[in-house]
Amino acid sequence: MPVLYATHERFMDHDSGTGHPERPARLKAVERGIHAAGLRDALVRVVPVAASAGDIARIHPEAYTKALAEYCRAGGGYLDGDTHVGLHSWEAATLAAGAGLELIRRLDAGEGSVGFCAVRPPGHHALASRAMGFCLLNNVAVAAAALADRGERVAIVDYDAHHGNGTQDLFWSDPRVFYASMHEWPTYPGTGRIDDVGVGDAVGSTLNLPFPARTTGDVYRAGVDDVLMPALQKWGPTWLLISAGFDGHHRDPLTDLGLTAGDYADLTTVLSGLVPAGRRLLFLEGGYDLEALSHCTGSVLSALVDDGAYRPETASSGGPGGEVNAAALKIRASLADR
Ligand SMILES: [Zn+2]
Repeated sequence: MPVLYATHERFMDHDSGTGHPERPARLKAVERGIHAAGLRDALVRVVPVAASAGDIARIHPEAYTKALAEYCRAGGGYLDGDTHVGLHSWEAATLAAGAGLELIRRLDAGEGSVGFCAVRPPGHHALASRAMGFCLLNNVAVAAAALADRGERVAIVDYDAHHGNGTQDLFWSDPRVFYASMHEWPTYPGTGRIDDVGVGDAVGSTLNLPFPARTTGDVYRAGVDDVLMPALQKWGPTWLLISAGFDGHHRDPLTDLGLTAGDYADLTTVLSGLVPAGRRLLFLEGGYDLEALSHCTGSVLSALVDDGAYRPETASSGGPGGEVNAAALKIRASLADR
C-alpha cells in the first residue's frame, strides 16, 4: 500500500522572522530528500484542508485561537523570544493541524499504509493556550485528540531532539494517549524528566528518555528496543503518531546529539511495528541543517516505502547515554509493581 504525503504551498508563507532557523527552505529540503531517494512517483500526494474550529478546540481554547488569528491578521510579530508570526501564519497553522486529520481520513479509507505530514509551523511545544518554541497549534495533539475521541488508544512517539513539552502537558492526565519522548537533556525547553510518568488514571502513559549530548543511534535503538517498545506493547496502542523531528542529527546547529539519517530510518522502522498498516502517521517537527533534513526525511520515507533502499548515512554508535535506558527500565519496573 502506498505512502501518503501531505504538504501545502501555504506552509511556505508562514513568516517565522528574519534569519530564523525554522524557515521555508526546510520544506524544499524535504522535497530534495524525496527526489534523492527516488520517491517522487512513489508517494501519493495529498493536499490538506484546514482543521475546523471544532477539531482545534479539542486542544486549544477559543480565547487562544481567536487572539492568535487576530494577531496574525493584524500583521503579526513576536509571540515570545523565538516564536514569530506573520500575516499568513494562522492559515498555515490551521492547514498544518488539518494535515494529520486529512491523512487519518485517507488512511481510514484504505488509501495508504502510513502518512507523512510535511508541515510548518511545527507543533510539539505548543501548549493549550500558549505558542512556544516555533509552534502555534499542536498538530500531533489535534490528531491524537480526534482519534482518542472516537475510541482509539493513541501512542505518540516523539524523536525530535527537544522534549515535546506541549504534547506531554496536554495528555498528562489522559489515559487514552501514551506520550513517549527521546530527547537531549539538558536543553530547551527544560522539561521531560526521566521520572515524569503522568498522573491519576494516566500514570505510566508518559515515558521520557532524556539523553546526554553526543548520544548515538545505538543507544536510541536500545531505548526503543528495551524500554519504549515493551512499555507500548503492554499498553496496546491502536494508532501510532510520530513527532518526527530531525534536529537530533549530528550536524544540527541547535542541538548536540549524534544521530544520523540511517538511525532515523531504523527507529521509524522499528516503531512502525507497534500497530498495523494504515494506522501510522508522522509529523515533521524540527530539523534545521538543510542537508541533514533532506537526508533524514529521504531515508525515513524510503524505509516506509521500499525497505530503506535510500540510505545516505549508516547508523551511528559509540556515544554515551546507556545509563538513561537502565534508569528508565527501573522506573518502568517500579510502575509495574504498583
Ligand atoms: Zn526540536
